Amino acid sequence: MDNIQAVKKKLVLSQSAQFVKGVGPLRVKTLAKLNIHTVKDLLFYFPRRYEDRGNFKPIKKVIIGQLETVRGRVLSFDTRRIKGNRTIFTLALGDDSGVIYAVWFNQPYMKNVFAMDDDVILYGKVDFYGKIQINSPEYEILKPDEAHDPVHTGRIVPIYPLKMDIGQRYLRKLIKHSLDHYLENVREFIPEDIVKRNSFLGIKQALLNIHFPENFSRLEQSRDRLIFDEFFLLQLALGLKRKALKETKKGIKFKLKSGLIEQFKKALPFELTNAQKNVIKEIETDMHQAQPMNRLLQGDVGSGKTIVSIWAIVVCAQGGYQAALMAPTEILAMQHYETLHKILSPLGINVTVLTSGLKKKEKEIIIQDISADKFRVIVGTHSLIQDDVKFKKLGLIIVDEQHKFGVMQRVKLHQKAIMPDVLVMSATPIPRTLAITVYGDLDISTIRELPPGRTPVETYWISEKKRQDLYVFLKKKIKEKNQVYVVYPLVEKSKSIDLKAATKMYEHFRDDVFAENRVGLLHGRMKDLEKKQVMQLFKAGDLDILVATTVIEVGIDVPNASVILIEHAERFGLSQLHQLRGRVGRGKTQAYCVLLSEGKSEDAVKRLNAMTKTTDGFKIAEYDLLIRGPGEFFGTRQHGMPELKIANIITDTQQLILARKEASEYLGQFSQEIIDPRNLLFQELHNKFPQNSDSLLAR
Ligand code: ADP
Ligand code: MG
Repeated sequence: MDNIQAVKKKLVLSQSAQFVKGVGPLRVKTLAKLNIHTVKDLLFYFPRRYEDRGNFKPIKKVIIGQLETVRGRVLSFDTRRIKGNRTIFTLALGDDSGVIYAVWFNQPYMKNVFAMDDDVILYGKVDFYGKIQINSPEYEILKPDEAHDPVHTGRIVPIYPLKMDIGQRYLRKLIKHSLDHYLENVREFIPEDIVKRNSFLGIKQALLNIHFPENFSRLEQSRDRLIFDEFFLLQLALGLKRKALKETKKGIKFKLKSGLIEQFKKALPFELTNAQKNVIKEIETDMHQAQPMNRLLQGDVGSGKTIVSIWAIVVCAQGGYQAALMAPTEILAMQHYETLHKILSPLGINVTVLTSGLKKKEKEIIIQDISADKFRVIVGTHSLIQDDVKFKKLGLIIVDEQHKFGVMQRVKLHQKAIMPDVLVMSATPIPRTLAITVYGDLDISTIRELPPGRTPVETYWISEKKRQDLYVFLKKKIKEKNQVYVVYPLVEKSKSIDLKAATKMYEHFRDDVFAENRVGLLHGRMKDLEKKQVMQLFKAGDLDILVATTVIEVGIDVPNASVILIEHAERFGLSQLHQLRGRVGRGKTQAYCVLLSEGKSEDAVKRLNAMTKTTDGFKIAEYDLLIRGPGEFFGTRQHGMPELKIANIITDTQQLILARKEASEYLGQFSQEIIDPRNLLFQELHNKFPQNSDSLLAR
């Protein structure tokens, strides 16, 4: 009996909004534009803000020019015609203290709205045109039996986010009606002890007060509760996904014997930082477990993530498995290949590289070698996830600069093996609270410390007027044996124009300004061999200036380069600027980043100022988030993150942390109960993220 009751309740809520009184076929279409489809959607359509229309002023006390709420009885009303076939409807309202007039232009039907002696609340801005009046006020006529429960005024009133074709009054009334009739069908889906422990309002109370708050503190409580709900469900979904991954797949239990690792440690050209040692420990622990590792390693540009990943590769190779390292660009893949080859071949670990730039024949041979397990380590670009690449014994996948890859690419490489460990690395560090939302399915290791002996890069923003001075500065630096990057923006839309600009500047530098120096050019349209040669020249110190497009944005490591000049800096995003700046400041000499820009837009100024203010990648990421907002910043859809209606991942961090804690505890205790389709929480999970549940629940 109880069950039937429950099913019935659920049915009402999932009915089309047309089920609600006052909604016809036409209105249904308009509501759909607001993403309101069902009765439940109406209850969960939250106000954008509130107006306090609850403090009645004695009419005599209203102040001209202010928003006021008054309550009185209708004394008289009439409609007058004025010239141009227009009408004025005037209503006189009186209380014990005085009389005020409400005026509506060209709304003659208003005379049918009011009756003499009606009990009316008015809200609006008070004017004076010979008499005290309010033009087109919000109004509410109180029926004797509902005199205590007004909708549009006389209380804290909700203001909803709206699109055209739909009025505040209409929607407000509709939602009020839905609350009055269908709120009782809403069932508590957050476990009772979580509600109790955190003194949350019950779901019905919260919904009631988010729309029509009794007072502002009740409103706060409702927000707390509903924000928690969104975060809790999100964290549950992410937690379930992670759990499923850990439980259903058996990973490789790498042994941590000494030997190769000891040799490797001895051969290191520097002392590891404490931060590096800590994350290595975390990674080793993961690799030693039977469950597959699924870890994000984040650290600012230049923090030394590569060596950490090589450590993991050695552990993997020592266990007799293959390791794959995937980089977003050919240049970075080549650089990684060289680094790995240099460090690993003395240990007897052979490395190969597979990029799309190889000749067909060469590629075929390498692919064959990979499937025959001839190489322990395979470096590559996205060509590693092509279907014809088959690994023999893939035990570890490392994805470098993960923010440059889509989620799909990560997943695809993973499917190539039965159960490899996965380590993704990112130099776009994000605040921890955000990371747990966006990468909730990953464990996170963070390097917050740069290797010692680095001097922070000095950053300057200059205008065209200073160009000649800049050239003098660059010549001086080159004379002191420093190398210089000059970066040009390359926008997809105007690619060939931009490319021409970069090439022209290169020629101008080579032939005129820096005729005495060695100048090189690097851009994405060049042949791979050419690119490789130019990069090698620059690395070897045989070029003084490298004019480049953003192909050098990620990963490139040339410690002797100590100046980077960024042309049209306003055309780059903040994170991108920071990445570019990360190309310098890797050696001992003072490094400089010069932003050349006439940028005047508000956002551009914010970005450029942020760059001159800090070199901390974590701070930069926070600025970037603030300037762009989370949707843009993460490319929400790419991450499969659901849209949050009331919770804000930037400002509501307290609730996010709380929700994460509660979700993880709940999952720990009730892992079985939660995937029972009869479980309300589980149903809610699926309702909440219909289009995402697949990507959230499956990896
Ligand atoms: P990122 O984290 O941006 O990938 P890299 O791994 O490329 O940084 O490291 C940047 C530079 O710092 C490299 O030249 C690397 O050899 C050097 N490096 C890394 N770790 C240390 C360390 N502990 N001490 C000194 N130099 C280091
Ligand atoms: Mg790197």
